[in-house]
Amino acid sequence: MVVDGVVHSWALNPITSVYTAEQFALWKALVHIPVEPTNKTYLIVSDSLNAINAVKDIYTRDPLARLCQGCLVDLSEHNVRPVFVWVPGHSGINGNEMVDRAAKIAITGPRIDEEHVKMTDVQCHLKQKIIEIWQGKWERQSTSLSHVKLSVKEKLYLKDFRRDEQIKIHRLRLGHTNVTHQYLLTGDPRPRCNTCNVDLSVKHVICDCVKYVNQRDRFNLKEDVRSNLNEIPNLKNVLKFLKAIGIYSNV
Ligand SMILES: [Zn+2]
Repeated sequence: MVVDGVVHSWALNPITSVYTAEQFALWKALVHIPVEPTNKTYLIVSDSLNAINAVKDIYTRDPLARLCQGCLVDLSEHNVRPVFVWVPGHSGINGNEMVDRAAKIAITGPRIDEEHVKMTDVQCHLKQKIIEIWQGKWERQSTSLSHVKLSVKEKLYLKDFRRDEQIKIHRLRLGHTNVTHQYLLTGDPRPRCNTCNVDLSVKHVICDCVKYVNQRDRFNLKEDVRSNLNEIPNLKNVLKFLKAIGIYSNV
């Protein structure tokens, strides 16, 4: 924060979000205004429209927005009414460079001036940590799906497919289909590809088997199983390919 050319900076807890930091700056600016009658007009310039709007929301439960509102009430009792100015990116405002430099020094230093963290920032931080742990476990697995879906956050939307097609797509991505795994229920020997003399698998049929080279070219299948089973246009081609080689109904 810059007031009359003087820089004030605080180091917040490292898990604090940018939005909270903007709110914190607004609050500190309001606290800085003397609670006494004056002829001065105070302008508080911020590039965070959300932080300014949160202060205007009389029903807000946000603790920092409420602190700001409390300051405004105290000031208004002395007829001091600061004006908030939203300037996107602080364009053309003197002091912006000073604020940026002070902010960089504050976040790289060891000290923390404000330990308190908003609940929403804690929730966000915990969610991120949980996803990181989950992703680590996912990457240590070696399953058919983990080779197709690399990130646990990836989502595949299959609204363009019929219900029966969606079921078959999920089976293909899991690597478990009737044609490759029915033997587990029937007690038969594991099926093998007669042409290549290897165990039959989804990857073998879609990417590797020499018996289907021409059909693979005809339907423009990709070389790797991830591209074939993770992108909507390719999935459509895979289903057409499986129909053409006569095993779609056994997927
Ligand atoms: Zn084969």
